[in-house]
Amino acid sequence: MNHPSGFERSLGCDMIYFDIFVINLLVAMGLCLVGYGLAHLGLFSFMRPFFCNIMKWHSRNYEETGFDGCSVHAKCKWCGYEGLIDSQGNLF
Ligand SMILES: [Zn+2]
Repeated sequence: MNHPSGFERSLGCDMIYFDIFVINLLVAMGLCLVGYGLAHLGLFSFMRPFFCNIMKWHSRNYEETGFDGCSVHAKCKWCGYEGLIDSQGNLF
């Protein structure tokens, strides 16, 4: 392998940008998780449509609406979405 030095330099640069991208992604995810937790406490309630419609993270304080013999049905208290509860206790 005999790469020109310019190629190696640009590759190194790309790696740094990739690292920054990953860190930003992790920070954004962390902020989302913190915001999601705070939304349950009544803070950042204006963010609830964002979590429900964009992230598909419905409220953990859902209202159980029934059991069909297989799955528990529940309704999200934030947006009114009706779905099923998975094994982790999440509404989807
Ligand atoms: Zn919802």
